[in-house]
Amino acid sequence: MKKVQHYINGKFMDSQCGEFFDNFNPATAELISKVALGREPEINTAVAAAKAALTGEWGQMKLNDRVALMYEVANEINRRFDDFLEAECLDTGKPYSIARHIDIPRGGANFKVFADTMKSYADEAYRSDTPDGRTMLNYSMRKPKGVIAVISPWNLPLLLMTWKVGPAMACGNTVVVKPSQVTPTTTSLLGEVMTKVGVPAGAYNVVQGKGSITGNLLTAHPDIDAITFTGETKTGEMIMKACSLGVRDVSLELGGKNPAIIFADCDMQKAVHETTRSCFANSGQVCLGTERVYVQRPIFDEFVAKLKESASKLKLGVQHDETVDMGPLVSKTHQEKVLEYYEIAKKEGANIVLGGGVPKMEGNLANGFWIEPTIWTGLPETATVVKEEVFGPCCHVTPFDTEEDAIRMANDTKYGLASTIFTQDLDKAHRVASKIDSGIVWINSWFLRDLRTAFGGMKASGIGREGGHHSLEFYTELKNICIKM
Ligand code: NAD
Repeated sequence: MKKVQHYINGKFMDSQCGEFFDNFNPATAELISKVALGREPEINTAVAAAKAALTGEWGQMKLNDRVALMYEVANEINRRFDDFLEAECLDTGKPYSIARHIDIPRGGANFKVFADTMKSYADEAYRSDTPDGRTMLNYSMRKPKGVIAVISPWNLPLLLMTWKVGPAMACGNTVVVKPSQVTPTTTSLLGEVMTKVGVPAGAYNVVQGKGSITGNLLTAHPDIDAITFTGETKTGEMIMKACSLGVRDVSLELGGKNPAIIFADCDMQKAVHETTRSCFANSGQVCLGTERVYVQRPIFDEFVAKLKESASKLKLGVQHDETVDMGPLVSKTHQEKVLEYYEIAKKEGANIVLGGGVPKMEGNLANGFWIEPTIWTGLPETATVVKEEVFGPCCHVTPFDTEEDAIRMANDTKYGLASTIFTQDLDKAHRVASKIDSGIVWINSWFLRDLRTAFGGMKASGIGREGGHHSLEFYTELKNICIKM
């Protein structure tokens, strides 16, 4: 049986206690690997290695050399593209066709983009007069924050982990990563890349394990200088509490309940196409995905019929089938959670336009964690599936009359991560975008990303922004130096 190990101080290793947990293929429920479970000894060793590396070869490396090494990491991910693709799709069940275009290329790009940002980052300087007629010069410099704990989720495992590790390392920090327990493989594989390209030992460390055990130990460790976390809002609350010990900085990318607003003057074909993507891509397991669709009344019936037609065509199937649009959900636990929401929607009186259950799959896929793409209408805005994040391939569609109604309903949520607006009226698009309480607004599109832009959520969707120089601000300490001339 294949093993997935920790990667600590440049070496792969099992846990000291010899404990492992199971990792399953979501498409078939078959066991694919045994994963080392990290406890105190592994966390302590990894954090100590990361701390030592700050003053060792890694910490003394010149910026140009570090940036060149980050480029090498990206190049090596691309050289081993097929290994990463296979591992990511086996862990998550997502189709190769998605991971080939999004997860793996972005996994590499995250190292290049932040290396470039770091290289071109400008410090500030101010010259001013002093009361005694002389001059002072203030200038700023940025220093790495230290040892960063990176805690990442399972929906885009390599992409979301490198989105943090890339900038953290480009800034000269060292990292201890704890990936999700259900998608451990590509984080360890990245350890092979680090070794191959010559990243000094201790700069990149991975401790595998469960959130309640390994994650807890990592966030509580006093030598962790800052924590960057992506995952559920309620886990984010626990992590924020852990950060209060020692007053450590935290970046939180959390859940969402993202609205799409479809105006009657939209390009119908484009709105249906993009909303199909935003609701069902990656089996609805995208933090930026749409779960609430608001459609202006004159086109409501037509839009619902077209969305149903489009979603009905989505082909479910196994990762390596290139014709497949949707894989299973990531785990049995998650399948049960989403199915519970499907039941609640039924009980609360939803009109089920499409899906609502588990599809019939053939052969060895019959035991996998499959779920039907689902569309509901007819629920009030207070209904559970309109309020809570499901994180599955589903949406509720509600009609609206006026622009003000749409804005009010879109904002009536504790979350504020992303939203989409479909209209051909540019004035209206700008007006509505400015009034929506979300960190990201897409107009006539979805998931179009320029990695230099600010990424993050308002309200319960998170704290802080990542992307471009925003990431560098989190992963560095800013120091002001004042000289009297
Ligand atoms: P999760 O919160 O259950 O787990 C995320 C990570 O935290 C995992 O590695 C887990 O092991 C760890 N963890 C769990 N409990 C912990 C604890 N007490 N201490 C330390 N670590 C702990 O989230 P998930 O189910 O993996 O991911 C889905 C969620 O992530 C959804 O809510 C989704 O919206 C959100 N998400 C947000 C973004 C974003 O950018 N805002 C991106 C992707 C996913």
